[in-house]
Amino acid sequence: TDLSRIRNFSIVAHIDHGKSTLADRLIQETNTVAERDMKEQLLDAMDIERERGITIKANTVRIDFTAADGQDYVLNLIDTPGHVDFAYEVSRSMRAVEGSLLVVDSTQGVEAQTLANVYQAIDADHEIVPVLNKIDLPASEPDRVREQIEDVIGLDASDALLVSAKTGEGIRETLQAIVDRLPAPKGDPEAPLKAMLVDSWYDAYLGVIVLVRVIDGRLRKGERVKMMSNGSVHHVDRIGVFRPAMTQVDELGPGEIGFLTASIKQVRDTRVGDTITHEKKGAETALPGFKPSQPVVFCGLFPVDSAQFEDLRDAIEKLALNDASFSFEVESSAALGFGFRCGFLGLLHLEVIRDRIEREYDIDLITTAPSVVYHVYMKDGEMRELHNPADMPDLTHVDHLEEPRIKATILVPDDYLGDVLKLCQDRRGIQEDLTYAGPRAMVVYDLPLNEVVFDFYDRLKSVTKGYASFDYQMTGYRQDNLVKMQILVNEEPVDALSVMVHRDRAETRGRAMVEKLKDLIPRHMFKIPIQAAIGGKVIARETLAALRKDVTAKCYGGDVSRKKKLLEKQKAGKKKMRQFGRVEIPQSAFINALKMD
Ligand code: GDP
Ligand code: MG
Repeated sequence: TDLSRIRNFSIVAHIDHGKSTLADRLIQETNTVAERDMKEQLLDAMDIERERGITIKANTVRIDFTAADGQDYVLNLIDTPGHVDFAYEVSRSMRAVEGSLLVVDSTQGVEAQTLANVYQAIDADHEIVPVLNKIDLPASEPDRVREQIEDVIGLDASDALLVSAKTGEGIRETLQAIVDRLPAPKGDPEAPLKAMLVDSWYDAYLGVIVLVRVIDGRLRKGERVKMMSNGSVHHVDRIGVFRPAMTQVDELGPGEIGFLTASIKQVRDTRVGDTITHEKKGAETALPGFKPSQPVVFCGLFPVDSAQFEDLRDAIEKLALNDASFSFEVESSAALGFGFRCGFLGLLHLEVIRDRIEREYDIDLITTAPSVVYHVYMKDGEMRELHNPADMPDLTHVDHLEEPRIKATILVPDDYLGDVLKLCQDRRGIQEDLTYAGPRAMVVYDLPLNEVVFDFYDRLKSVTKGYASFDYQMTGYRQDNLVKMQILVNEEPVDALSVMVHRDRAETRGRAMVEKLKDLIPRHMFKIPIQAAIGGKVIARETLAALRKDVTAKCYGGDVSRKKKLLEKQKAGKKKMRQFGRVEIPQSAFINALKMD
């Protein structure tokens, strides 16, 4: 295809501002998909994404559009994820296109993820076309939002498009604006091949499918290509484009976006950001590299039924085939038996994987408290990464600990500002900035990631009644006074309940945890001490009184069927329990004990 007839773009937006709906309309308006195949949120393929209304993997579609000048154009849309956990995926797919539609809900205005995503687009040198969506709604205030885009982001929004992705108003104008206002890609078809590896995923029939953006040269079926990062050579057996169904083509030239398959077995063998060139007469220098994404949150996943350990391994291995940012290793816990310590990009990523294991593989899981990666500096100078509080080395050998910090940006209506500041302060935050974007305050905090991974986002939503938006990026590691706190149930430490805490917060956290556990653990026929301890020193204690647990007593021996029902219920409940010494701890306790209400 002639370069001047190609436009490559992505859509950036805060969640729920209408990115997926707009993509649907662009696809529909250009008859890219036959009417009978059209379904809502076409690009959000996985069920879990549909249910949660989020896009996780980047998706791509090639659209043919006849513009006002009567010429046919190829528009390649790369849809990017909207959630903070996947910021890295956003940044890499941004590098594969030249422009962005910035979608802002005209009833809401600019939000934290609008900012985070548009800054990524600016970093990638994109031309940006603002789109004010949802103008069909009575609450739409395009003038106010236009001003806000100019004030807060500093983008000229005077010719922002007015769109309703719902009714289809403004969709043709949007397609025309993509052609008129976004730049055509540049590239040399005669130069040695340079193709950027944008994404890859596993397909049961085709093996690994690699999404590529050709920068220079031509990529053809049957060629031998080389991954420049490691020199591995592959024979290309298919190339094609997404319409959005996979459609084979003979070649991809500069500016084009499409896929290749080359009998690659694992997603791990493809590095996102890598440069693909020809085995012979290849390019000399690679494209500027990308950093590999690193898991930042770890937790243990254990089967409720220990007989399902091998099933769990199978499920995890299958999921990992398609997700190189997810890591795992076998973990054994005195409390929970055999399971896996897994690393994730963030909490949403964790939830998505856990849900898929439970749903698609039908395995009930116990999830232990999420933990960040600490840097433990030993007295001998060695640095160890700590993924699990249970592995904390003996203190006599430890010099000091460092924890990861983040820069959090929160946008919130003025009325809730006080509560947000208090929440950040309670989580050991350091305020860095406070400005106003219209009636909304924008606060920037330096926070320990540890204080955010667990329930920060839920708390933020609840104290602001859902009106705050939040985004973060990792900034680095800093030393602090951190200790491992253990929980002892009936005098025995329960390894799966160990957590890392700041020394100054340990008493408060410890007391909260033992109080919670007192409610979460059912009474037994003996009394059970529940203690929080640091290095053998008890800092908080509760005692669960003894009780004769006779659930059928209430039935007065009368109604037999009712009695049977109760016993069955109790049996089902048992499956969700973990026997620990003489004490049964319900599965829910491993997560709920940590909630800070
Ligand atoms: P995304 O999270 O940015 O992908 O947002 P979605 O496309 O999933 O849209 C979020 C919600 O807004 C959905 O319920 C859509 O039906 C709705 N929506 C999207 N665009 C419009 C619009 O132009 N008008 C109205 N009234 N609703 C819209
Ligand atoms: Mg979406």
